[in-house]
Amino acid sequence: MTNTFEVKNPATGDILETITRDTPAQIAQKLQAGQEAFQSWKKTNAHHRANLLFKWSHLIQDHKEAIAEIMTKENGKPLAESLGEVDYATSYIDWYAEEAKRIYGRTIPTHADGKRLLVTKHPVGLVAAITPWNFPAAMMTRKAAPALAAGCTFIVKPAEETPLTTIRLAELAHEAGIPTDVMQCVNGRGRIVGEIFTDSPLVRKITFTGSTPVGKALIKQSADTVKSVTMELGGHAPVIVAEDADIDLAVAQTIVSKFRNAGQTCVCANRILVHESISDVFAAKLTEKTKELIVGNGLDDNVQVGPVINEDSYTKIVKQIDDALNKGASLLTGGTYDVNHEKGAFFVHPTVLANVSNEMEIMHEETFGPVAPLTTFTNLDEAIQIANDTPYGLAAYFFTDSYKVGNYLSENLDYGIIGWNDGATSAAHAPFGGMKESGLGREGGTEGLEPYLETKYISIGNFLE
Ligand code: ADP
Repeated sequence: MTNTFEVKNPATGDILETITRDTPAQIAQKLQAGQEAFQSWKKTNAHHRANLLFKWSHLIQDHKEAIAEIMTKENGKPLAESLGEVDYATSYIDWYAEEAKRIYGRTIPTHADGKRLLVTKHPVGLVAAITPWNFPAAMMTRKAAPALAAGCTFIVKPAEETPLTTIRLAELAHEAGIPTDVMQCVNGRGRIVGEIFTDSPLVRKITFTGSTPVGKALIKQSADTVKSVTMELGGHAPVIVAEDADIDLAVAQTIVSKFRNAGQTCVCANRILVHESISDVFAAKLTEKTKELIVGNGLDDNVQVGPVINEDSYTKIVKQIDDALNKGASLLTGGTYDVNHEKGAFFVHPTVLANVSNEMEIMHEETFGPVAPLTTFTNLDEAIQIANDTPYGLAAYFFTDSYKVGNYLSENLDYGIIGWNDGATSAAHAPFGGMKESGLGREGGTEGLEPYLETKYISIGNFLE
């Protein structure tokens, strides 16, 4: 089996770099080094760790343009989005550098004379992360930053489509003074590295962002050593546009949610449910704005939608569009492709489908592509029923200017993230994560630090004797 893999530019098919995979023995060695480094890293003080994290963040910002260019080349997203992702990635490092200093314990009022009851917080140990290709910088930092802040050591396996950004971020972490065995990177096939990580008793936590089937496998594999797991898995986000919505706002925010990263995010709008009284005007406005989007190589000026990541993604998107059209959907724009099979470059033009119905694949399967399917509803309970009719529960969006409608939807949608008149909800200081089969645990905010901490309870008797 070849021990190297090629990283390609999905916009051109050009080979960017050839990377050597770590062998199982090398990965085992890195796990051992991470476990040994944990013995000293866990004893460092929080202010020291915070300072190193800030240095790392500043170094990334110093190299922002170069990192963004690497990201656009390996992922395909427009350069403006890559620059935005660098800021988003460092916002997690900055937030957790601050939070490192706020890992508080407790004292508990006692039930018996002469006792003192203490609760203290401790890092879980060596953390292994597996990250996806759609946000090569941010998915790494929002795992690494809380892990290091808590006093854990960290090893990451990036996606084989986009390892270059992660490798660069790890180099900069070392340049900032974070010891090399505290922050490590391995390259290899997902399944093989995943098995080594989960089999190892040295790894105390697995943190993963990726597809639901892989997440389920990792949870099962983690059972034998009872590892802590944080899982950010798939989504199938509904957008509900209520009768009283500000239609222009709803269109603009749906565009942001749907077409960012060529529709390849787990929080992308995937089913757009519009009240029947405004569905025609919403569809017309969404189509008009969608037609304005410029498709191309993300390095070119003004491009807003880049290629999709690879042929498998392209094939899945085309299948969903064809399935919807065959079952009676109408094509309002898009449904066209620029494809170079020989080089491996796949562009899907932003697509709007109307008259989408429940038996179409696109209503149930994650699309991960720039396709906006529209359907209608007559009353809010029907919209909620359709929205919740999925094993996923990551992000949901709705548009209404009525506080009653907004409160009702917020209360009844079974989703971990709710955007009310907002298509871009994510922030380092807020908890990100899903219900049901969309995941376990949260990243970001104060919630994002807890999974890297163990709780120790100390009951002291004869306290003042
Ligand atoms: P996608 O289909 O979006 O690429 P995946 O879940 O397949 O999502 O990939 C996300 C990450 O999981 C990548 O780093 C990939 O290499 C890794 N991966 C893929 N399969 C497995 C597996 N069986 N075990 C562990 N990691 C895996």
